[in-house]
Amino acid sequence: MLKAFLFDMDGVLFDSMKNHAEAWYQTMGEHYGFTCDRTLFYLYEGSTGAQTIDTLFVEQRKRHATEEEIERIYSEKSRCFTQLGKADPMPGAAEVLKQVVDKNLARVLVTGSGQTTLIDRLQLTYPDVFSPDRIVWGRDCPIGHGKPHPDPYLMGLRKAGNLLPDEAIVVENAPMGVQAGKAAGIFTVAVNTGPLEPSVLREAGADIVLSGMEELAERMDEIIALHHSSRG
Ligand code: MG
Repeated sequence: MLKAFLFDMDGVLFDSMKNHAEAWYQTMGEHYGFTCDRTLFYLYEGSTGAQTIDTLFVEQRKRHATEEEIERIYSEKSRCFTQLGKADPMPGAAEVLKQVVDKNLARVLVTGSGQTTLIDRLQLTYPDVFSPDRIVWGRDCPIGHGKPHPDPYLMGLRKAGNLLPDEAIVVENAPMGVQAGKAAGIFTVAVNTGPLEPSVLREAGADIVLSGMEELAERMDEIIALHHSSRG
């Protein structure tokens, strides 16, 4: 039986990915001279900031980033992100969350983000939806264990009350997030709220790809039935 929804945050509950991609580009590209474009950061989305920085170091500088570098670069990226202003709530997200609350299903937030500004806003924008003990953050997952690794979503199942994978639905917008949900054995709905082709999310393993949170709100009962039938 379905007992919980596990929600990613950026690109699912907030329309924040544009600003993240811009902040990453300005920091890694313009300031630190890495070769990258904004779309690259939509592909990296879901992994932690530390992992994103380390990946670029390994690929382009042929060594791991030091802890000091990761801290310095990530705080610069965070500063840049904050300067870009507040991200809007994702259209349709409030309606999705209302339906999940009305159905008495548990809600867990599973984010790679360590961005305290957005996490504070979560409670302001969607009050009484996520309790603080039902949040998995980027800092909960060591390097190598962020998305696409299954650990964040496995931790989410534990925080939802030690649920089994087939008792939950993951809602994700990023390829690595979809991979993480599927690696944890959970039915995963992809909402394609960014510039990527829907095929990228299908290839990552999504059980269904929707155009966004508005479509999820419209088709909620159908998706829950699909989850039910997927359990065999
Ligand atoms: Mg996301």
